[in-house]
Amino acid sequence: MSSKHKATAVVSGGRDSKWTKGVVNPPVMRASTVVFESVAQMKQATGNRANQTLFYGRRGTDTSFAFADAMVALEGGEGCAIYPCGTAAITGALLSFLKAGDHLLMVDTAYEPTRDFCDKMLANLGIETTYYDPLVGAGIEALMKANTKVIFTESPGSITMEVQDVPAIAEVAHRHGAIVMLDNTWGAGMLFDAFAHGVDISIQAATKYVVGHSDVMLGTAVATKALWPQLRENSYLLGQCTSPDDLYLAMRGMRTLNVRMQQHQENALKIANWLAHRPEVDHIRHPAFSSCPGHDVWQRDFTGSNGLFSFVLKQGHQKATTAMLDGMRHFKMGYSWGGYESLILAVYGIERLRTATEWQTQGPLIRLHVGLEHVDDLIEDLADGFERFNQAL
Ligand SMILES: *Cc1c(COP(=O)(O)O)cnc(C)c1O
Repeated sequence: MSSKHKATAVVSGGRDSKWTKGVVNPPVMRASTVVFESVAQMKQATGNRANQTLFYGRRGTDTSFAFADAMVALEGGEGCAIYPCGTAAITGALLSFLKAGDHLLMVDTAYEPTRDFCDKMLANLGIETTYYDPLVGAGIEALMKANTKVIFTESPGSITMEVQDVPAIAEVAHRHGAIVMLDNTWGAGMLFDAFAHGVDISIQAATKYVVGHSDVMLGTAVATKALWPQLRENSYLLGQCTSPDDLYLAMRGMRTLNVRMQQHQENALKIANWLAHRPEVDHIRHPAFSSCPGHDVWQRDFTGSNGLFSFVLKQGHQKATTAMLDGMRHFKMGYSWGGYESLILAVYGIERLRTATEWQTQGPLIRLHVGLEHVDDLIEDLADGFERFNQAL
């Protein structure tokens, strides 16, 4: 099922009557064992196991088939592999397309656990990783090797929010026979059309905006027609499967994804504009702001923004940011984002997470996830926070 408008896709995706049997929502189907009425039926299901057929619980149930359909309706592509968390989706996709002796180009601003996986597990498996500048664009060509199989992108980058020229990177990759993977968690399938911009595998921590309520861990990888059979087979081989209760909650979250994103965007833009005028703030790292590296690419390729962005302070030390964060009423401290609630994080030691580029900013970086609370309450919370910050300076 493909819908032209994302707002429609998130409402209608996965609701084929073959899964819903006539009720609105696909039911939670708990299963390990599937029992067959005859040898012939068992044989048929076994032969058909790649095609959304009940066969054995690990291979999927009506709940997972419906959720996979919904993700394909949202993102496009041919099929969706489902993983127990976003990190498993990233590692599962990489393991599915890399083998010993291969070379991987990994963006320098990747989510920290993605980097860790490359440096620890992939290195041990004989797969070489080269990190590259998120703003490299077509310049990625100079880093290509004969054995480069995957270019991994994440746009905007984790914490520092650099927006990547994915089409330019994809053009080079495809000319050299490599594939492009994207950590599309920020875009959430809503703000960036991965496949229209040359991505071969679009990965999400559905944990974030798709689930949207901070109560489920889930990952997805949607592949093009050409790559889907290999991704599906390898995610089966890795034994990846997820609970139908979690998938049900994820589908329920997805139904309001469009309206939630609009409100996250509106609240975040108001707060970012307010922050831009604060004397303490050096610059805003929000893709919709010209102070954000890659802003022009965001304008060209994205259809909007969400609740997640960062800002850099002119000066400050840990004692001052701690005084600010410790007293927040609405912005709670937490590592995740994408739920309905506001979160705040002071990030230290960014230079430790970068090897191909240098993080030269002097002041501390604060990352916000702007939730669905009334924006005036959130601004008041931040204003009081700055008062504590300034007192502790
Ligand atoms: C949270 C996150 C992940 C990992 O997702 P989990 O479900 O927590 O494993 C991957 N990429 C990005 C950009 C994330 O923010």
